[in-house]
Amino acid sequence: MTFLIAGAGPAGARLAAVLSEAGREVVLVERLTDPHRNSFSSAALSCGEASRLNLPHSAWSATWSGWQLLDPSGQEHQWWNDDPLGVVLDFGRLRSAMWSRARAAGVEVVTGCTARIEALQSDSARVLLQHGDGRRQHRHVQWVIDATGSSRCLLREASVPPPSLIDPLLEGIGVEWLLQADDRVSPRWLDRISFFLGTRWIPHGYGWIFPMGNNRLKVGVCCLAPGQIRGSKNDLLARLQALLRNCKLEGCSVLDRHGGVVSSSIARRESLGSGALLAVGDAASTANLLGGEGIRHAIDSADLLAETLLNAEARNQVGPDQADAVRQTYEQALHCWFGWRWRVAGKLAQRTWWGLDSASADRRVERIIHGLSRTSSAQDLSSLLFHYRFERYGLRLLRYLI
Ligand SMILES: Cc1cc2nc3c(=O)[nH]c(=O)nc-3n(C[C@H](O)[C@H](O)[C@H](O)COP(=O)(O)OP(=O)(O)OC[C@H]3O[C@@H](n4cnc5c(N)ncnc54)[C@H](O)[C@@H]3O)c2cc1C
Repeated sequence: MTFLIAGAGPAGARLAAVLSEAGREVVLVERLTDPHRNSFSSAALSCGEASRLNLPHSAWSATWSGWQLLDPSGQEHQWWNDDPLGVVLDFGRLRSAMWSRARAAGVEVVTGCTARIEALQSDSARVLLQHGDGRRQHRHVQWVIDATGSSRCLLREASVPPPSLIDPLLEGIGVEWLLQADDRVSPRWLDRISFFLGTRWIPHGYGWIFPMGNNRLKVGVCCLAPGQIRGSKNDLLARLQALLRNCKLEGCSVLDRHGGVVSSSIARRESLGSGALLAVGDAASTANLLGGEGIRHAIDSADLLAETLLNAEARNQVGPDQADAVRQTYEQALHCWFGWRWRVAGKLAQRTWWGLDSASADRRVERIIHGLSRTSSAQDLSSLLFHYRFERYGLRLLRYLI
């Protein structure tokens, strides 16, 4: 079987490597020329997940052992663990390592090139490759995969219906700067991940400061407002600059400015393709907006898709009438893997971020943070925000969701 994967983020690069390692012919097309450009992701995740997914140590920039939340009144709350709880990746280095693994597995990696669907059938697709230097090529493949992240470029080109009004996309728009700090200002932000919650920082969203190696800090803000009240990029930049002033970081030199969009439906009821087109990663709504986290979910979805495709081939499930069955199997596999916890986390994200726009919402956030201060350890926070373990919050959580 031949595969063309559009987008070499964590999902596309992983899928390409796994399929090629299983002996399949794979082309991976990426519009960036350099994996370090637009390194938009803050890329924090738990140590356990980074190890489970074999994320290369070359991409681990710093580890963290504490959570720090600044509440709507500016008060600081901390939770510490003796051992590291998580890691902040250098997203550029992660992509670079994943592209290298794909190349080593025999994938044809085409960079600086945009993929577009020209013709889509139930058992094959014709794809146009538009190179940055103006060259155009056509490829004919059995499966084409949309791994273009939240832009969902190929799904849109193929007119696959977007998420419906019943289960709309929850979308976050983030801007982030990479700062070079020094021993004078960095200690307050090292060894921990810090979040800023409340309308004084940003309505409908949150700010963050994550540590990187060599006294560098990732500082960002993300807005997850309902569609009709989206702010402009300038609003976001103004919020970011205010956060820097407030944290006395405005004197640090800015090494990189980047940003991006992360989006997901909650129940993933939308179709994840059509004919020979399938979606993976953010394009398949695998990101979870509770903590704006999507890297591990994108990689898990790539592994599930690879397994589905290889199993389908082993069962000789190929041909024009089989594409829908393969897609259904994949959608079910995603549904089982992400499960009810992932969906409750998405609902919690929607409830929290869409509603965070008033003094009463600020007070609610304050009450939640004070409650967590009294009852929870650093590990409990990781269990809640990374593993979606809600049981201990039981009825209180249910009341909040309703
Ligand atoms: C500001 C911000 C902060 C984040 N922080 C975290 C975090 O701390 N932890 C975490 O786990 N997740 C975080 N995320 C989310 C995470 O980065 C994404 O979930 C993850 O990158 C999704 O991987 P993906 O491969 O599905 O898509 P992407 O990483 O978006 O990759 C898609 C790729 O497709 C390419 N592309 C697009 N269109 C085309 C085309 N037509 N042809 C060819 N190539 C194309 C793009 O250049 C891109 O490289 C953050 C996201 C944002 C925006």
